[in-house]
Amino acid sequence: MTRRLTMALPSKGRLREPSWSLLEASGVSPQEPGERVLQAHCRNADIDLLFVRADDVPEYVQDGVVDCGITGLDLVYERDCDVDVLLRLGFGTCSLQAAVSMEDKAQSLEDLDGRRIATSHPRLAARALRDLGISAELVRVAGSVEISPRLGLADAIIDLVSTGSTLRTNGLRSLGVLFESEAVLVGQVDAVDSEARRTLTMVLGSVINARANRYLLCNVPRERLAEVTALLPTTGSPTVMDLATNGVVAVHALVPASQIWSLLPKLEASGASSILTLPVERMVP
Ligand code: AMP
Repeated sequence: MTRRLTMALPSKGRLREPSWSLLEASGVSPQEPGERVLQAHCRNADIDLLFVRADDVPEYVQDGVVDCGITGLDLVYERDCDVDVLLRLGFGTCSLQAAVSMEDKAQSLEDLDGRRIATSHPRLAARALRDLGISAELVRVAGSVEISPRLGLADAIIDLVSTGSTLRTNGLRSLGVLFESEAVLVGQVDAVDSEARRTLTMVLGSVINARANRYLLCNVPRERLAEVTALLPTTGSPTVMDLATNGVVAVHALVPASQIWSLLPKLEASGASSILTLPVERMVP
């Protein structure tokens, strides 16, 4: 009999909602979703879900309490847990940055040498500073790191930043990025080769890949086909089909969503018409 896969999901915080919507988009959403539920089974798959804090996921996976889980890459390193990163999930993106007050004389990360830095990510911060050859005194704080320079507790801070608006609101200026993070699917190291784990990784991966792409369709005069296909930022070969109208072909291609904005005017200028872009649900290379 195949064993059911157990998976830990963030029960609250920033990673909760996008983790749940990824499972939903993958067709394996929990059967009884609700704020207070701590455990659930998945619809359509032999997966048992355990809802825990994102910070606890790396340890639960390392210790074999669950087979896999979703957490932040920063938390994997901060908790110093030995787990396999199975998949980068493309949400929860943020970076660990060092910042000083607007008036501070520091201009680069190197200028932090010999100074006091407040952080709630001491392990990640220490490692990043060591790698850069910067020697600084780290002051560990549990929260509200941004006010530390104003309180005279430290000269600088090292904190996770996504938009940078919290830094600006608190009169702080970034000196640079020390580490890039995003949500990840992690699994136990040396797990007995599990078919269920491989399937879950493949299915979640197909949704993540699909989200980053759009299906593009357009009509092109045959004599301008080479010009249009040369513009397409696609790795595979586009599909070209004859239309009932003589001398016009339909071109279909998968293109990165991030390039649609710059691509559309160029396609139009190259004679493409009836241009459509559609979302893609899943993509298995
Ligand atoms: P939580 O504290 O439960 O809201 O989740 C914190 C996790 O969300 C972090 O460990 C990061 O992986 C991720 N994250 C994404 N953006 C940010 C941000 N601006 N500040 C802190 N954590 C962030």
